[in-house]
Amino acid sequence: MKTCPRCESSIGDEARYCSDCGAPQSEPAAEEFDEYVQRQAQQMAAESGAAGDAFGGSAGGDGGDSGFAPAAELTDREQLWRRGCYVAGYGTIVVALTLVPRIGAFLLILGGIAILPPIRRLTAEPLGSSLKREVMAGLYAILSLLGVLLLVFL
Ligand SMILES: [Zn+2]
Repeated sequence: MKTCPRCESSIGDEARYCSDCGAPQSEPAAEEFDEYVQRQAQQMAAESGAAGDAFGGSAGGDGGDSGFAPAAELTDREQLWRRGCYVAGYGTIVVALTLVPRIGAFLLILGGIAILPPIRRLTAEPLGSSLKREVMAGLYAILSLLGVLLLVFL
């Protein structure tokens, strides 16, 4: 029998880890333990990063109750919103491209670009935090309304 250098309880000579405090008892065991801790840390960082993203994305969105909604529902709503934005954005751009020599078409294209989800993420760089999706949707609404008005009246 030998004693654990950390907690001084007696452990078997062949033991790789102390049965009391879990301290590794040999060089390979220590390395293995380090790798395990690092893997756990990376996994936790990845998970908390993903969770933070989901919450950050929805925080601007639906007001009061969203913080307590189940995660699955949040991501579903988020997915739906993203898909809607892509459809609206690309749809607007495609339609606008067919009208392109006219000035209103360029406003429509700008609006279509503004509502695409990656653009909202790009705004995080200069502004510190990404714009709320309502802001991008509002921008889209204003630009496409102006575009349509110009197309109708010019
Ligand atoms: Zn120990």
